[in-house]
Amino acid sequence: PPPGTPDIEIARSVQPQSILLLAQQRFGLPADSLIPFGHYKAKLNMKHFGLPDPATYGKLVLVTAVTPTPAGEGKTTTSVGLNDGLNRLGVKSSVCLREPSLGPCFGMKGGAAGGGRAQVIPMEDINLHFNGDFHAITAAHNLLASIIDNHIHWGSESGLDPRYISWRRVMDLNDRALRNMIVGLGGAAHGLPRETGFDITVASEIMAILCMADGLADLRQRLARIIIGRRRDLSPVTVGDLGAEGAMAILLRDALQPNLVQSLEHNPVFIHGGPFANIAHGCNSVMATRYALSLNDVVVTEAGFGADLGAEKFIDIKCRQSGLRPDAAVLVCTVRALKMQAGTAKSKLATPDVQAVYAGSDNLQRHIRNLRQFGLTPVVSINRFPTDSDDEIAAIQAICGDWGVRAIPAQHWAEGGAGATDLAQAVMDQMDAGEPDVQFLYPDELPLTEKIETIATRLYDAARVDFSPDAKRQLEEYEQLGFGHLPVCIAKTQYSFSANPKLRGAPSGHVLPVREVRLCAGAGFVVAVCGDIMTMPGLPRHPAALDMGLNAEGDVYGLV
Ligand code: ADP
Ligand code: MG
Repeated sequence: PPPGTPDIEIARSVQPQSILLLAQQRFGLPADSLIPFGHYKAKLNMKHFGLPDPATYGKLVLVTAVTPTPAGEGKTTTSVGLNDGLNRLGVKSSVCLREPSLGPCFGMKGGAAGGGRAQVIPMEDINLHFNGDFHAITAAHNLLASIIDNHIHWGSESGLDPRYISWRRVMDLNDRALRNMIVGLGGAAHGLPRETGFDITVASEIMAILCMADGLADLRQRLARIIIGRRRDLSPVTVGDLGAEGAMAILLRDALQPNLVQSLEHNPVFIHGGPFANIAHGCNSVMATRYALSLNDVVVTEAGFGADLGAEKFIDIKCRQSGLRPDAAVLVCTVRALKMQAGTAKSKLATPDVQAVYAGSDNLQRHIRNLRQFGLTPVVSINRFPTDSDDEIAAIQAICGDWGVRAIPAQHWAEGGAGATDLAQAVMDQMDAGEPDVQFLYPDELPLTEKIETIATRLYDAARVDFSPDAKRQLEEYEQLGFGHLPVCIAKTQYSFSANPKLRGAPSGHVLPVREVRLCAGAGFVVAVCGDIMTMPGLPRHPAALDMGLNAEGDVYGLV
């Protein structure tokens, strides 16, 4: 396709292969080990795979990024391109990604299945209703909400106080009008009036649970542990207290099975689960990562936002809970992102400016330093945009050279896997050179407040953490309730190392404000909310949805 061809047209120009055939040829999988959804998508049958033996696992490559611009720095695109590049080198490799949410798809960000020549197909199906997983999560979440309101209606046998119910409802769309509402209006026959609201499905604790669960039994136990609210004496009431976990697990059984699709170059891609990267951990499911590792020599996986959020949560939450460990890290960097860190205006990001690249590189260097604290020396992948100059690319390579880090220009967006073979080779070289000694940033035993302080001071270079009185009290309470051993999940802006999105580069000496904390006892982490974090986004003035539709053949247009 000529330059400027929209992603959806590139995606549609390639005829996908039969997914059953692909699974058989690549992995030797019999047809009954898959549950096909049409010809090009399938779930991996849990009954066939069970819990794969870690002794059979290949190597795991984490793809993370510098602090992003609002458009995204190309982690998904790089993950897909790197996997295609690895396959071109003859490496048996797959990539694991998150499922896109309908909210951003119809709002601003568009699709999330890669871009250019590094995409996953069938693109429309992946971006819209993909195998029903998010609908199942939405249904399970709202089933619980209905059980809670019914429980209150019939007298709240558990002692759950309607004023302290924290479980809201969810929907996988951006709809600001639903953020705050009163339910139960209309008189005694219609329930008890109380204030509540909707979040977007990717913010549901059930989404995070689905992504952490190791199988159906673990899923059910995690669901039972969810805290839905408090009694008058403030003691927590769980899903297990209401006995709703069995019915919720029924709705989630199929959704727990990882999805298999393919790249434009017909290499296997696992897309499963999609938790928010701020109030949740932002990684694809543990199940998909395990299944992919058991079937491949190398698995590439993406973690949301920049390395301060994505890589930290991948290691301190997902790896800690699952026992998985990365064997290498790829740090995606763009010329645009560094210029933005230097304060370049959005309209000038495409104009060559080597000085700005140098000026913004403190951000890149902070991320390299941080990854070293986890025991990982990254390979920097320079995701090349058509407007980047050779001098700007050379500047990034020189900066990385000073850190003893390889920086490889990658052109998968323009060229597909052929543009990422150098990157793929560098990643293989890195893994051949030795196994990294991956470290968590803090031990389980450290008190929750000190865990937050450790992340803030060691990764963000904050001078200190400012806990609101409420946050402080709640953290003490979580310790008393026996949840002090959990990891913390920081919810802050992805645009800065600080909680202030306008503070660019590599700020230090700032104060991290912890406004509020939330206990996700089922997912297994404590969320520290720093600044304003939206759990139900709104649509922009001109949503992407208004430019979308079906053409005369019934095909989607306008999905970008
Ligand atoms: P992330 O996963 O980091 O959020 P994506 O991989 O989804 O980022 O990329 C964000 C957007 O940028 C996509 O629309 C993608 O097509 C576009 N993009 C990524 N890399 C390039 C590139 N090298 N040149 C032009 N556009 C790109
Ligand atoms: Mg992405």
